Order: sequence, then C-alpha cells, then structure tokens
Amino acid sequence: MPERIFETNSPKETYEFARQMGEKAFPGMIIALSGDLGVGKTLFTQGFAEGLGVKESVSSPTFTILQVYDSGRMPLFHFDVYRIAELEEMDEIGFEDYIFGDGVSMIEWAELIDELIPEEALRVRIEKDTEKGFDYRKITVSNYEDNRN
Ligand code: ADP
Ligand code: MG
Repeated sequence: MPERIFETNSPKETYEFARQMGEKAFPGMIIALSGDLGVGKTLFTQGFAEGLGVKESVSSPTFTILQVYDSGRMPLFHFDVYRIAELEEMDEIGFEDYIFGDGVSMIEWAELIDELIPEEALRVRIEKDTEKGFDYRKITVSNYEDNRN
C-alpha cells in the first residue's frame, strides 16, 4: 500500500494540511484516523471540515460516537469510536449506511474498529516524536495514490 509521510510543526500546519485535503474530498470518501489521545485527530478533522465548507464548529464527539455536519459541500460524518466496547455498537448506529453513503466519513480511533474499515479507506496516522519538539507531528497517509487527490 503506497504511503506518504508529512511532517508538521504546529497545530496550524496540521490544520492547513487537512483543510487542503477537505477541499479535494469526494462523496463516499472514508478517512480512518489513528493516533494517541491529544495527537491532533480532532484538530485534523476541524481543518478538513473547513476545506469541505462546513460552517458549524467541529468538536470532539467522544460522548456521542457520531456527529453529522450538514453545512458543507457534502455531509461530514465525524465518528469518534474511542468509547465503543463492542463492534456491534457500530451496527446499532448504522455505521455501514454512513460510510457507504454519499458523505465523507472521518473516523477518530479507527484502529479500534479495524475490522470494519473498508480496504479503500484513506488511512491517516498521526504520531508525536518528543525528540523533535512538543508541536511536531508525523502524519502518515496510506492508500494515498488510490484516492482522487
Ligand atoms: P485528539 O483528537 O487526537 O485527541 P486534539 O486534536 O483534540 O487531539 O488535540 C491535539 C492537541 O495538540 C491540540 O491542543 C493542538 O493544539 C496540539 N498540537 C500541537 N502541535 C500540533 C500539531 N503539529 N498538529 C496537531 N495538533 C498539535
Ligand atoms: Mg479527538
């Protein structure tokens, strides 16, 4: 699977990187976001949402699993699956109907539901490296070439 690595040194740079990706979003796009707490998954989603034209402010949906934003060029389905205990919970919220629908699905903590992430999803992994500074982030994007960027 083709992989590309991007590096950012501030929240603003990550936001901008994601915003540009949001500008190129297409219906049915699925982004599986992984990385530890506080690494920047929600910030990435906020930048992406702006690129998509979302007007509402995007926050972490940790206590709801799913937040839908309808004000952009297409719906944004923002999942945060950190608190799911069993994969069946994803069935209950209709996960497949969303990800195979005509919006863009952004899934925080996608590594926790790996079995449910389709092959064609774009995988974005964000990591810190304390040796490179507090605000450094390494963003690894897999499946990059396969997507319409
Ligand atoms: P997550 O959703 O992964 O738990 P958040 O997006 O809520 O993380 O928080 C990321 C935090 O890290 C924010 O406070 C943000 O300002 C900070 N931060 C510092 N440097 C960066 C960077 N290069 N990219 C993204 N976030 C960064
Ligand atoms: Mg988050």
